[in-house]
Amino acid sequence: MEKSDILIVGGSAAGITVGISARRYYPDAKILLIRKEKQVLIPCGIPYIFGTVGSPDKNLIPDSVLEKNNVELVIDEVVSINKDRRTLETSRGAVYGYEKMVLATGSVPSVPPIPGVELDNVFAVWKDVEYLQKLLKALDEAEDLVIIGGGFIGLEFADECKKRGLANVTVVELLPHCLLLACDEEICVRVEKELSERDIKVLVGRKVEAVVGTPKLDYVELDNGQKLKADVVILGIGVIPNVQLARDSGLQVDEKEGIYVDEFMRTSDENIFAAGDCTRKRCFFTGRPTFLRLASIGTMEARVAGANLFRLRHRSECPIGVFGTVIGNLAIGSAGMTERQAKEAGFEVVIGEAEAPDKHPASIPGTSNLAVKLVFERDTRVLLGGQVYGSMTAGKVANFIGALIQKRMRADEIITFQVGTHPMLTASPISHQVENAAEIALTKL
Ligand SMILES: Cc1cc2nc3c(=O)[nH]c(=O)nc-3n(C[C@H](O)[C@H](O)[C@H](O)COP(=O)(O)OP(=O)(O)OC[C@H]3O[C@@H](n4cnc5c(N)ncnc54)[C@H](O)[C@@H]3O)c2cc1C
Repeated sequence: MEKSDILIVGGSAAGITVGISARRYYPDAKILLIRKEKQVLIPCGIPYIFGTVGSPDKNLIPDSVLEKNNVELVIDEVVSINKDRRTLETSRGAVYGYEKMVLATGSVPSVPPIPGVELDNVFAVWKDVEYLQKLLKALDEAEDLVIIGGGFIGLEFADECKKRGLANVTVVELLPHCLLLACDEEICVRVEKELSERDIKVLVGRKVEAVVGTPKLDYVELDNGQKLKADVVILGIGVIPNVQLARDSGLQVDEKEGIYVDEFMRTSDENIFAAGDCTRKRCFFTGRPTFLRLASIGTMEARVAGANLFRLRHRSECPIGVFGTVIGNLAIGSAGMTERQAKEAGFEVVIGEAEAPDKHPASIPGTSNLAVKLVFERDTRVLLGGQVYGSMTAGKVANFIGALIQKRMRADEIITFQVGTHPMLTASPISHQVENAAEIALTKL
């Protein structure tokens, strides 16, 4: 039996990051990574396969990243774990021993119990090259695409499929607006306007009752009786943690929320850690379980797990939720709570907003406006959230806001930040959006 010092199950964002971090802290360790799939997709790049990037093979994480870090690779499925013996078994019957193990088994797409979802040409977003190749082929033969779910994945698919040349693209969203879990209403409305300018139809506040075909896919039926012709349906309604292996091996799990871990990323077994989409997460602001599953969170957890395997070094942070996306020419970023979410959670808030060109002077070619909305807790002045929209710098500014949130910065502290600026790269120091939004919020207190 082959025995490793560190055995990683899962080879996507979290698993690979565990390998890289573990190698830095434990240079002499034998590290083995076992993953199911032959080729690993860049998960966040999946929607772009259908437009900008063009095919799954142009959206892969190269195995050279493992080779460079001296992480051995086995492609196989782990089917059971024996915690007492510290071994696991694969679908090919191979047994591997370990000193410490990390589960990075990720998530699987959530498939709603809608009649007809099992029909051909109804696709969930599986992170699997062959599956996505089938979707690509189906799209190339299609005219009418219906996307169920108007979150960032659904909208990215809509935009990219339109770029691919799909004639009719419709997004159906249950909530009153698309992106409502990441943005406040006024920003969602801007996004919906951008979608409609790109000839993407958006139906909000509508539930899909059934997907109908006999047996070839025919149409999607909504709760108001409306029928949407469909050659292909894509389900973009979120993911559920993949806890099967952890559950079957007797680790503490919650089927919907994930594998229980402590702040050092240890599971209920002291020799098994977990990181990424498979873990149970608690909201940074409320401490309650959260649905947030992002590569940014998973890789942070992986760095913590990788460092702590033989000695506790770092504590993980609860997810804030830092998003970014682009729809057409509109970039959107969001970090932390929206105004609506903060109020629903029971906070009294004060808002600061500012908008300015993303370069200075605005006569520099390629300049566009970037607007920032900051949400502060009224009593403490602590930043709870921020949304950014407009120019392509939105993602970077959202990350800056995310850092301010994680450090629990107050509005009066933010205005004393010395934000580096440059004519070609940022807003002017006079009109820097984050500084101005914070000052405007302060003056309302
Ligand atoms: C379309 C799409 C777009 C996204 N865009 C963004 C974005 O822009 N920004 C962002 O931050 N996040 C984004 N996300 C979320 C991000 O992709 C996930 O948070 C990330 O993939 C989680 O990584 P992970 O390694 O935890 O899990 P996964 O990516 O789910 O990988 C799990 C790994 O475990 C392996 N595995 C599972 N079970 C076994 C087993 N029994 N034996 C062996 N191997 C096993 C799998 O084969 C896989 O290698 C997006 C997700 C999707 C689907």
